[in-house]
Amino acid sequence: SVPAAITSGISAGTRRGLLIKGGAALETIGLVSTIAFDKTGTLTAGKPRVTDVQPVNGTRQEVLRLAAAVESGSSHPLARAILKAAQDEQLSVPSAQDAQALAGQGVSASVEGRTLLVSSPRHAAGQFSLLAEHAQQIAAFEAQGKTAVILHDGQVPLGFLAIRDEPRDDARAALAELRALGISTVMLTGDNARTGQAIAQGLGIDVQAELLPEDKLRAIDQLKTHGAVAMVGDGINDAPALARSDVGIAMGGGTDVALETADAALLREKVTGVSELVQLSRATMNNIR
Ligand code: ADP
Ligand code: MG
Repeated sequence: SVPAAITSGISAGTRRGLLIKGGAALETIGLVSTIAFDKTGTLTAGKPRVTDVQPVNGTRQEVLRLAAAVESGSSHPLARAILKAAQDEQLSVPSAQDAQALAGQGVSASVEGRTLLVSSPRHAAGQFSLLAEHAQQIAAFEAQGKTAVILHDGQVPLGFLAIRDEPRDDARAALAELRALGISTVMLTGDNARTGQAIAQGLGIDVQAELLPEDKLRAIDQLKTHGAVAMVGDGINDAPALARSDVGIAMGGGTDVALETADAALLREKVTGVSELVQLSRATMNNIR
């Protein structure tokens, strides 16, 4: 019977670490024409490391110490990387007050009497103009697939940090598998275009970069005009995009919010889980027809 086939499909998924929340999700995943992926924590391991710290004046320790203070209230992967780097260098990080996240752009906080920001070059460029040598340094980091962020005091840049998050080992093969199943794949990222392209090129996937949270929703609506869309993401800020797609897939245990919003979850944190889901769906629906 149909319910029995669905139930057995769902439990086959569960045995392989693929959590599927109901028959509708199982049915739709095999029908999608496009799968959109978040970058950080989904196609990449989500364990970014600080690779470079460049002061404008003063020392790199000072830049790292202040950046860590600004990031101390943030749960963003970039924040964790900066805090870990400060910890690894045994810097004492001052306390911060009034921390505020600027979604998809950075974070600000009051540290030692100053309002400091750690934000994307794009956000900073909206506040002040960068010196050509600084812009070049940033571009060089980004061409290496690194994310550059700027520590600044209002319009005064204090330093630059570069952070690199390695692609997951299985990502490239998993994306090739999906395309072999006739599915288009695209990476949606809030990161800048150069970093996004460097990572995407290594993985062999299309990319739309510099997307603010609301741009990701618009991108999904646009993809939906070609057929059903699945979205794979891991973070709190991916929840709206997971909800907007026809099938939201949470990467790993991830955040509770992503897990709650999603229609399915890849509990083993493997990108190959996405093609397993598609194949499981198609096999189950073939049994029914
Ligand atoms: P992604 O789509 O890759 O998960 P986000 O939308 O979370 O990226 O963030 C986009 C960009 O905004 C980051 O690449 C970074 O430049 C900036 N940003 C966001 N949060 C922070 C933060 N806590 N500290 C510094 N920069 C941040
Ligand atoms: Mg993310």
